[in-house]
Amino acid sequence: MTDYTDIINLRHSIHSHPCLSGNEGETAKTIVAFLKKCKPDELMTNVTGYGIIAHFKGKKTGRSLLVRCELDALPITEASGVSYSSVYKGIAHSCGHDGHMAILCGVAKTLAESRDNRSNNETEFGDLLDKGDIYLLFQEEEEIGTGAKKMAAELRKKKMKFDYTLGLHNSPGHKEHQIVLFNKTCAWASTGIEILITGHTSHAGNPQDAANPTDAVIKLIESIRKLDKTNAFSTIVNFTVGTKDYGITPGNGAVRITARANEDAGLKRLTASIEKNVKKIIETENIKFAKTHKGKTGKSAAKNAFKYNISYSDAFPATLNNLSFSTLVEKVAKNLGYSTKRNLIGEFGSDDYTYFTHNTKATFFNMGAGEKHVPIHTPKFDFDDNLIPDGIDIICSVYKQIQQTQ
Ligand SMILES: [Zn+2]
Repeated sequence: MTDYTDIINLRHSIHSHPCLSGNEGETAKTIVAFLKKCKPDELMTNVTGYGIIAHFKGKKTGRSLLVRCELDALPITEASGVSYSSVYKGIAHSCGHDGHMAILCGVAKTLAESRDNRSNNETEFGDLLDKGDIYLLFQEEEEIGTGAKKMAAELRKKKMKFDYTLGLHNSPGHKEHQIVLFNKTCAWASTGIEILITGHTSHAGNPQDAANPTDAVIKLIESIRKLDKTNAFSTIVNFTVGTKDYGITPGNGAVRITARANEDAGLKRLTASIEKNVKKIIETENIKFAKTHKGKTGKSAAKNAFKYNISYSDAFPATLNNLSFSTLVEKVAKNLGYSTKRNLIGEFGSDDYTYFTHNTKATFFNMGAGEKHVPIHTPKFDFDDNLIPDGIDIICSVYKQIQQTQ
């Protein structure tokens, strides 16, 4: 039985010193120090920022595999109560990226051990580096959705191509040690939408004089909710009208939404419908305003009493899965004795892993962390260390298996 104590200690040390997106220097330093001991054939550091890629080369040419994990933590105050809790107030590894990094470091260690013990063939996986190339990628800025796009562009610039690409995540809500695989969509597409409506204010005692966007905001929220379907839906994340001043009738409003769909085309259709609704509601409100303000504000001014602006941010394309590769991962997991499950609809939460999935056979798997495990992105969350051996075993076995495919 392999001893994972050093990997678990590494995870705890990363957990105590979490770094926010775009500021992952301290974590990157810890990872680079660990990887150096594993003597990869190539170690790329500061890729587009703090990104790291460790490349281990097989003796003979074979298939290449890219495995991705994430470097960043979240702006959350940890309340897990573990002895190795975050020493930085307001920053915590509440998504388990510390665990994913530990898994990839464990893979690096296993590869190094396999190479060092090549002659006596003593390791669990035999000579893992007999054939092929394996790249372990530590991605910056996953939580803010900017890291993968930059790093994937850099890989293209360096003309680095991979036959297979693998991503993973711990997953509370599923049985511990259960491996969850996907059919078509791994993670849904999503986008943030901000709709700003401007009218004009009046004295609160004369509300009839204002172009007050309150009705437009209410109608808009109702209309957006009606667009929800099984394969596409929106979450109203914030809305406002006016200010805190009791003497003023509101003159502006805002509705902020996150729209999601299981495919990029579905998200396009949903945002087009939202835009159509905004346009229609504002037109109706302008006609209503013009009718009640005939001669008061001037005909053209009344017609354009309300204006709007729509802007988009935090966009993630859907992550699509390669079914033949996910079937291979499923087979490997089953052979190792794990129970497996297929997620047929995909995860609602988006992941920028999608940028690594072009021109390669890409798949993603989730590792069940227990049905009652604290959910990710919450203060009490801590990664389940029992998943470290699962991840290492599956990645190493998948790498070995793909060398045997035609
Ligand atoms: Zn995450």
